[in-house]
Amino acid sequence: MTGSNIKRQRHSESTILVTGGTGYIGSHTVVALMQEGYCPVIVDNLSNSKISVLKRIGGITGREPTFYKADLLNTKALNKIFQRHRISSVIHFAGLKAVGESVLHPLQYYRNNIEGSLSLFSVMSENDVKKIIFSSSASIYGQAAVIPIAENCPPAPTNPYARSKFIIEQILNDIHRADPQWEVVILRYFNPVGAHQSGLIGEDPQGIPNNLMPYISQVAVGRRKKLQIFGNDYPTSDGTGVRDYIHVMDLAEGHVAALRKIEKKQSSRKKKMPLMINLGTGRGCTVMEMVQAFEKVSGKKIPYSVTKRRAGDIAACYADVTYAKKILKWKTKRSIEDMCCDAWRWQSENPQGY
Ligand code: NAD
Ligand code: UDP
Repeated sequence: MTGSNIKRQRHSESTILVTGGTGYIGSHTVVALMQEGYCPVIVDNLSNSKISVLKRIGGITGREPTFYKADLLNTKALNKIFQRHRISSVIHFAGLKAVGESVLHPLQYYRNNIEGSLSLFSVMSENDVKKIIFSSSASIYGQAAVIPIAENCPPAPTNPYARSKFIIEQILNDIHRADPQWEVVILRYFNPVGAHQSGLIGEDPQGIPNNLMPYISQVAVGRRKKLQIFGNDYPTSDGTGVRDYIHVMDLAEGHVAALRKIEKKQSSRKKKMPLMINLGTGRGCTVMEMVQAFEKVSGKKIPYSVTKRRAGDIAACYADVTYAKKILKWKTKRSIEDMCCDAWRWQSENPQGY
């Protein structure tokens, strides 16, 4: 995709503040926003991302997005950004996201994720910006009793990370209840994987990857010896865990669809209740199926050994996507093969990440 493909005119008025916009999902969403003619302004403290992402985004879209290095807890710095730009909506990605780390360091997680969000929402309120899309997670459902998981499944978060997401959801609901002018969309992601098809941006975890796809990619590229498959005695088709993997560009486009919804003239949206929407494909994929798909597209053998189940893991989790399709007029387009192919392009062209 080149700069000439960008629809510059369509939303030229709309400046969108993207917190966490240099991170994995944020950077892909910034590309999708720019390609739809929105003007993203990124704020990120670079605690889990690199400044070089901006050049890569520029390489795809023809223009580097505006960037501020700031921590969300720094209310003063945030205020300055809001005063400098006429922000119409906020997409709030910034947060810490490692489940295991959150169990070890709950205070750090609650402080960063909840206090950071409170600081952001206060500054939004002071500056009369009342439209927000928030990154939540399917992890708030915990071990759901019914699969596929619909949005009315009762939340049962099982760790501080997931609880921080659930608490922020509740805060947003309360803010909306107190002032119905607020337009709130809560997106509950399932398992984002893959990379932009250019191979210029992708997932770049620090240290040993916690998640399956980056681990497989690093084995394929020779950075790690073999994959450990956490258990093959689950009640699934081949005994390995089932998840709903969603291509990160499908996810990014889901945000654009949500933004279109809240950026519409207020009168055209009768019901302004906070929307809680699952973003997934609606299809489950086992660990073994993912390994095989990756081997096929990369031509690399992925050595693995089966070890015991990972503590806290569930057997199967995938989304009911009926509501997302209806409310956002959006659905995923990319297959498991596309996810593996794009992840492999990114990893093989950037073996050490950014
Ligand atoms: P990421 O770590 O790549 O991106 C998050 C960004 O936020 C990073 O660039 C980091 O530097 C920044 N950040 C963190 N705390 C900050 C603070 N206090 N102030 C300013 N910047 C801060 O993560 P991601 O995978 O892109 O996830 C984005 C969001 O989506 C997160 O909120 C995450 O919890 C949520 N989410 C992610 C997944 C997933 O599997 N990746 C699944 C469900 C939900
Ligand atoms: N998994 C695995 N080996 C790894 C990482 C993950 O077997 O090194 C499995 C894990 O047990 C789960 C699936 O892959 O069944 C997805 O795990 P991930 O951590 O990516 O997502 P989550 O469990 O948070 O949904």
